[in-house]
Amino acid sequence: MIFQSESRKGIRRAALITVMLVLFMFLLLAASIPASVMVKPASLPTVEVPEALLVTNANVVDVRAGTILPGRHILVEQGKVSRISEDHPGGGVPEIDINGAFVAPGLVDMHVHVHDRKDLVTNLAYGVTAVRNLRGFPAHLRWRQELRDHDWLGATLFVSSPVLDGPKYAHALQQVVNNPDHARFLVNHYQQSGYDLLKVYGYLAPDVYEAVMDQASLIGMPVAKHGPYSPTEEPFKWLETVQSLEHVEDILQEPLNRQFDTDALRDYVEEIRKIRPYITPTLATFDHLTQLSTDKQAFVDRIPLQQLNPFFKWLYGMASVERWLQAGSEHAERNTQELDFLKHIARSLSDNGIPLLIGSDAGTMYMTAGISTHIEMQLMQDAGISDEKIIRYATLNAARAMQLDHEYGAVEPGRWADFIITAENPLDNIRNLQKPLSVVKRGQFIDRKSLDELLELADNPAGFYIGMGILLEDIVTRWWTDLVA
Ligand SMILES: [Zn+2]
Repeated sequence: MIFQSESRKGIRRAALITVMLVLFMFLLLAASIPASVMVKPASLPTVEVPEALLVTNANVVDVRAGTILPGRHILVEQGKVSRISEDHPGGGVPEIDINGAFVAPGLVDMHVHVHDRKDLVTNLAYGVTAVRNLRGFPAHLRWRQELRDHDWLGATLFVSSPVLDGPKYAHALQQVVNNPDHARFLVNHYQQSGYDLLKVYGYLAPDVYEAVMDQASLIGMPVAKHGPYSPTEEPFKWLETVQSLEHVEDILQEPLNRQFDTDALRDYVEEIRKIRPYITPTLATFDHLTQLSTDKQAFVDRIPLQQLNPFFKWLYGMASVERWLQAGSEHAERNTQELDFLKHIARSLSDNGIPLLIGSDAGTMYMTAGISTHIEMQLMQDAGISDEKIIRYATLNAARAMQLDHEYGAVEPGRWADFIITAENPLDNIRNLQKPLSVVKRGQFIDRKSLDELLELADNPAGFYIGMGILLEDIVTRWWTDLVA
């Protein structure tokens, strides 16, 4: 009997090793043939940037002053605004008369997870002309290059490194950082690989966290920091150097110890206003999980699920959506209360002059691109933040946080001609931005009919195995990086 059970154990072990070997071979294969796995779908929209374009009779939204500049003519050359004037500049440039429609800078979503090229098409259809992706895969670097090469039309993509985290809580989607030397190696490595910034989680060991922040600051690599707390004894140390802090939920979790404690919040805000870092509240993601837990399947039925890459839809369905759908009524009630308090935190930060950013966390938990950005802005409005501020957060603040305000964030000469054009004034109500009349991407004028066509294209993301290939490539690449470190 003993022998038999030992032999069964042996068979099981052999089977396990075989499965692991097959998986390993599959991972290697996936990494070695990215070009064929990541084949570009034929149905991507094309770039047609005119040499010059004159947009006439525009009400330009001045996001800096919070005012409208009426009756302006906007001259665009080589994708950038070259002149804005009250007089018609003449010169035989092709013209589009927008008859007093409102021209605001394109919106920037500073916290998304892009899983498919089509996500960037959907963003554009909603007037989100740039996004910052906060869990970088090697595929994102290729997509960013394709966009730069004008291979297809989509929102501009900024890409963070993989998420850097400590071994205790890290999962397969994150990069474990083991010690300070490893930290310094990875910071250099991700800069050299072409990532725009680092994404840093809060569960790093104190000395590892110090090494990440120190090296990033030494080589000028920006950092988006998940969680306002610090693994070190000094919670506010290093915050002067970050590009942004992500999630007000983390303020509730750490400095407030999950209590709806307005006194503790006041103390926290008092400290953080000395530093004034950019903060991305990401209310939309909490609103989304709250609705999953309260309205369940009825809420899921309202989501345009066909826009999601099927592999990532499956992954998030398993990893998080299911959990919220199973939540009991007590848990759902707690989520509703928490959402209210998170809005209160966002409002307090805004009232105290902390520069906020618009970031939806789209891509997680069935949150679709583009509309999630508008939902984030709407939740800020529900929190009592003024429309004027919200539109500034979504444009100028994003550009300033990335130190790119000479190129993005305003309808002004010298900046990219990325516009969202609406019939009604967005300064009166930011909800007026939700269905644009047209969008301009680097001078390419996309009218309503064409925006609807972009949305139709977005209903056909790449397939399940392409999505899986993107993730496997990331896992194998990180594994390889650690092997040669
Ligand atoms: Zn996120």
